[in-house]
Amino acid sequence: MSNVRVRFAPSPTGALHIGGIRTAFWDWLYARHTGGKFILRIEDTDKNRETVDGVQVILDSLREYGLDFDEGPGIGGPHAPYVQSERLPIYRKFIETLITEGKAYRAYDTPEELARMRENQQKRGLPPGYDRRHRHLNEAERAEYEATRGANAAVRFAVPLEGKVTFQDAVYGEITVENRTLEDAILMKSDGYPTYHLAAQVDDHLMEISHVLRGEEWLPSAPLHILIHRALGWEPPIYAHLPVMMGPDKKKFGKRNGALGALEYPKQGYLRGATLNFLALQGWSAKEERDLYSVPDLIEKFDLDGILNRSPISDPEKLLWFNGQYIRQLSLADLAARTLPFLQEAGLVGPDPDAVTSEYIGSVLALEQERMKTLAEAPALADFFLLPDDEFLFDEKAVAKWFAHPGVGDRLRRVRDNFAALEVFDAAGTEEVVRLVITEFDVKGGEVIHPVRVAVSGRTTGPGLFETIEALGRDRCLRRLDRALGMVTG
Ligand code: GLU
Repeated sequence: MSNVRVRFAPSPTGALHIGGIRTAFWDWLYARHTGGKFILRIEDTDKNRETVDGVQVILDSLREYGLDFDEGPGIGGPHAPYVQSERLPIYRKFIETLITEGKAYRAYDTPEELARMRENQQKRGLPPGYDRRHRHLNEAERAEYEATRGANAAVRFAVPLEGKVTFQDAVYGEITVENRTLEDAILMKSDGYPTYHLAAQVDDHLMEISHVLRGEEWLPSAPLHILIHRALGWEPPIYAHLPVMMGPDKKKFGKRNGALGALEYPKQGYLRGATLNFLALQGWSAKEERDLYSVPDLIEKFDLDGILNRSPISDPEKLLWFNGQYIRQLSLADLAARTLPFLQEAGLVGPDPDAVTSEYIGSVLALEQERMKTLAEAPALADFFLLPDDEFLFDEKAVAKWFAHPGVGDRLRRVRDNFAALEVFDAAGTEEVVRLVITEFDVKGGEVIHPVRVAVSGRTTGPGLFETIEALGRDRCLRRLDRALGMVTG
């Protein structure tokens, strides 16, 4: 049994960002790689930032990506996560201990006083931060504040004023910070809720977390976290701070430069495996020339050594490429099952397609599979296959160009009649028909091929023409050629 225990500790503040899924995924991978445990902890002690369905969004997102967690006694059974707001007495107990031992103190500053302090610091060019004015109150002062403002007191950590913290970050290496540069952070707010800084340390200890993998934005807080552990007589976990994902414009990867919320990707036709494969490589490398990794491959290979200490440039185009690769690997039945909801949503297929329709959809998708980069593209790529023969739209430019050629009507009519007479209506047979018409009329290939394509599909691009014709089948093709014959002007 491994002693590795990692946690993902999101705050329920709204949609889980794709960077959050990367953190959760790497946590999960490390637990699965080492045979350790993956723990989910909801950090909901900041009631101002919480959203109504924040926890549900987190649970749904983890489920969507298959990131199952191993333990938690929270409300809802053994597989509910730990929830910090259900653990308030635990935090209060440790805060009391710290106060009793002189390692934390009650601070009575009002918001206005703190604002004034900040203003003064700014004016005088001093670094911002609490100036510790309530750390060394004498007994009488403290009693006075307690009597007048006790109900609104916060609790602050008494950072040791001497010495320094040195630790080994698994990604960034050795880091040393002078204690005196750290702020006396708030451990408990006046509303009685612990802050993240206190609650996360208590929980990392009580939950026996061995490795903390989390976003690089928390690196500056790590020395404080280590000091809190030490103040409580605990050994801190190993930290691995993960470089933040950047978009192609070198700004934090977010909505503005192409990122979506975790739950948006599946809605937009991305496959879980593709998104996870992409995320695995956003700042981690197995140090080999290879791009495609299944989740089992990643479980086998993922280690902390491979985490790079510089920000990856996360390119949505690259994710599209991965998705296209994964779509190609799907069996036809699987592709059809996953694509069906998108076709239904677009109104191209009814709620309960019969066997004939399902088979038809399968043959259509077989032709589009190579070109699809997301499942959501299927309706646009394949609508002409699925719309009624007299309803699919014609590309006006294509019509103007190909239906006005002198003699095009005669050629299309010949194709139509020979299609009708074909014994076996398949790609090879229909191609032969088209070739014979080209020879018979002594025209360039394109002068038959393009009008036929426009006639059956309304456009000039698409999968192979004769495969398209075979998939459409004789009846559809004849009706479409008839419709086109009514439109030709040449
Ligand atoms: N609750 C913090 C967040 O949502 C977690 C930070 C950590 O992993 O320590 O960012």
